[in-house]
Amino acid sequence: MPSPMFACRYSVSPYVACQHACKYCDGRAEKYYVEGDFEKDIKIRKNLCSVLESNIKNIREPGIISIGSGVSDPYQPVEEEESLMRGVAEIIQTSSLGAAVLTKSSLVLRDLKLWEKVHKNSSFILMVSLTSIDCETMELIEPGASNTKKRLDAIKQYKDKKMYVGVLAMPFLPFITDGEESIGKLGSALKSIGVDFVIPGGLTLRPGCQKETYFEMISRNFPDLIDKYKDLYCENRQSGSPKRDYSQLLNKRVNRIFSDLEIPMEIPHYIYKNSFPLYDEIYILLHHMVSLYSNRGIDIGALKKGVSGYSKWLYNSRKSFNRNRRESYKTFENKFKQFIISKDFYKIIDNRKLREFIIQVVIDKREFNYNTLKLI
Ligand code: SF4
Repeated sequence: MPSPMFACRYSVSPYVACQHACKYCDGRAEKYYVEGDFEKDIKIRKNLCSVLESNIKNIREPGIISIGSGVSDPYQPVEEEESLMRGVAEIIQTSSLGAAVLTKSSLVLRDLKLWEKVHKNSSFILMVSLTSIDCETMELIEPGASNTKKRLDAIKQYKDKKMYVGVLAMPFLPFITDGEESIGKLGSALKSIGVDFVIPGGLTLRPGCQKETYFEMISRNFPDLIDKYKDLYCENRQSGSPKRDYSQLLNKRVNRIFSDLEIPMEIPHYIYKNSFPLYDEIYILLHHMVSLYSNRGIDIGALKKGVSGYSKWLYNSRKSFNRNRRESYKTFENKFKQFIISKDFYKIIDNRKLREFIIQVVIDKREFNYNTLKLI
């Protein structure tokens, strides 16, 4: 199933561990089993391109490949020598798949022309991780990553080439980058460049190495904040979440700031609508609608029920599609088109408005605007 958050279906990652050495990095957590010194012992997947080349041939359904992960950055310094990403871009160019690169490095500019070709063939999304425009502060916390100015410049250059660009505004750091003024300045900078979307998030600190590394950095650079942090993360939840009331406050602040600026907080429909089979497009869209409506304080009870029914139906239908290797996705897609106008679709989604909405997107090729929440 595709990931609604990043609008991706497949993923690759050239490295494990990361020289960017962000002190809050979730990849440090024990649950990912990254061995050695997280900031220095970088595992290089030398055979990535040959594996990707053979795997791509077996892919039956269109979609977007996400490149990068929570435990490594594909454009970290080692990439300057290894150039694995050039090979990855060249292979993707020969397919009809789209690509999304997640990075904190301006080294992504080196491959702008390659990604431009991917964008012309299918689609390319650059997702730059950035939570503040304060260069000095962020250098203490993300010492190996490109500085804020360089990241903003990379965003601008990709945007100037009419590529899709979004910002992963996560994690906002409590008492450092989570204030109204700091988020507001970031939002204004991104608005002036014309980013397509922002995906915001708060800081989670899983008990163990991740939390210890981050607390050590706070004690060294922001000693006045350590007691506040201890209190905020005192519950030691396995998910690493802070106290619930803090998260609710942050969500409200972030929603208000980016909504006022009319920057969508999900990857907009126009970006992914031609990159997936119609059944996956609807799956992503419905999941996005749940958070878009919920952020506006609209009751999502009926919508959630419909999304859950649809997700179960797609999961089961995909199982039989996967078993029948001879069937093309086009056949599956055509069955889907017949299904949504049949009486059986009522059994999956008993909400008339939602069924009509899906028919308009699939059959009439309408697009959903994430700011106005209307079909165009
Ligand atoms: S760039 Fe990403 S993967 Fe690398 S250290 Fe920072 S948060 Fe972790």
